[in-house]
Amino acid sequence: SEVATMMGVSTTEIISACMSLGIMVTMNQRLDAETLSIVADEFGYEVEFVTAEIEEAIEEDQDAPEDLKPRAPIVTVMGHVDHGKTSLLDYVREANVIAGESGGITQHIGAYGVELDDGQRITFLDTPGHEAFTAMRARGAQVTDIAVIVIAADDDIMPQTKEAISHAQAAAVPLVFAINKIDRPTANPDKIKEGLANMNLLVEDWGGKIQSHDISAKTGDGVKELLEKVLLEAELLELKANPNKNASGTVVEAFLDKGRGYVSTILVQAGTLRIGDYVLAGTHSGKVKAMYDERGKEIKKAGPATPISILGLDGAPQAGDKFNVMEDEREAKQIATKRSQLLREQSVRTQRHITLDEIGRRIALGDFKELNIILKGDVDGSVEALVDSFQKLSTDEIQVNIIHKGVGAITESDVLLASASDAIIIGFNVRPMGNAREIAEKEEIDIRMYSIIYDAINDLKDAMEGMLSPEI
Ligand code: GDP
Repeated sequence: SEVATMMGVSTTEIISACMSLGIMVTMNQRLDAETLSIVADEFGYEVEFVTAEIEEAIEEDQDAPEDLKPRAPIVTVMGHVDHGKTSLLDYVREANVIAGESGGITQHIGAYGVELDDGQRITFLDTPGHEAFTAMRARGAQVTDIAVIVIAADDDIMPQTKEAISHAQAAAVPLVFAINKIDRPTANPDKIKEGLANMNLLVEDWGGKIQSHDISAKTGDGVKELLEKVLLEAELLELKANPNKNASGTVVEAFLDKGRGYVSTILVQAGTLRIGDYVLAGTHSGKVKAMYDERGKEIKKAGPATPISILGLDGAPQAGDKFNVMEDEREAKQIATKRSQLLREQSVRTQRHITLDEIGRRIALGDFKELNIILKGDVDGSVEALVDSFQKLSTDEIQVNIIHKGVGAITESDVLLASASDAIIIGFNVRPMGNAREIAEKEEIDIRMYSIIYDAINDLKDAMEGMLSPEI
């Protein structure tokens, strides 16, 4: 109906135009770019994708291999509430003093870098938890290289531990386990490792490949060794970036400071940012007036994997927004303005999420190879039964991935994960909780609820057969 209004024709005309193209649509259905172009053409219009045009202007060139230099890993700490994420981040922040500098990190800017004795660096995102991690991903920002999963050794592997693991895995981010609170008399790290093994996560002591270390975030015991393991994991990733070009990266947080104006913490991911650069960040722009590191020290430039707070933007961009240095101020301003106009004018999202009904059509377009599912159920038995049956539905053409499964209601965090990973959510005898339904509606996430196992399997099977039918 939106397209109809734009072209001044009736919705029925659009629907029948789609039908004549072999596409069955409803009034509120969103059309993909290709269909949109064809339909508009039928009515003598040409579609111009303004967003795409803007983004092209800031597209980066490919780096030559010889320009790429090693960079520090960027780490997010996740885990169940109260298992010690904040304590670990605090310990690392306070204990770490870069050689020759007095005092630890006192500023909270959303991210900080630490240097180990041997000069190797690690950058921590200081917003712990998988919700923050996946919220960034849902905005299109992939910042984290390694996820440290904190598990209290005097507790069990809890639902949020499992969630954190699924969220990291859905983003293809390698895991390092920190088995915490080993100073407690009731701590039993082996029980945790056994629990992980039961989830097919074999840590090194158990003959597997996943790094893990027993720590106490309270006494600091084992933290140094944990960081060394993080660096080992990072080595395997061969993280590199080109420092010799205009900077780009991601916004970590931003706020308005009474005295100093807008302060934005950004993580430089490529290139080098300098004072005086013109920055475009989301719908804001400005000239970098000053830059500070996590110690509050003024700095003049910042290379890859460095978190810094900057002054000079004309507003507060959102966490997860990309930032780019632009050659000229006017262009930066223009794009920022265009972006906010677009945001205001249209609620049209650039990214649509998959729905069960749509699977058949998407596969016909040829780019749909994997169906991601988040499965929540009331009891473990039915969840496992459904996982089994769903996985058996995989074919040569379509891979069914259960990216997260769990017992309990459908949460906000499930919806975020679905949004970041383009998944559908299936609830078995459970419903959305709290804001989950509202967010799902906003993000257009398909939530299906069942109370009969057979119905759930059949629906999925039908959708997937719809997927395959064009081949027959
Ligand atoms: P978060 O919710 O995961 O960020 O957990 P916190 O870092 O806030 O820790 C929750 C509680 O556990 C706090 O009271 C901490 O003092 C305590 N705690 C965290 N790590 C340790 C540890 O290694 N040993 C002990 N004894 N207590 C810890």
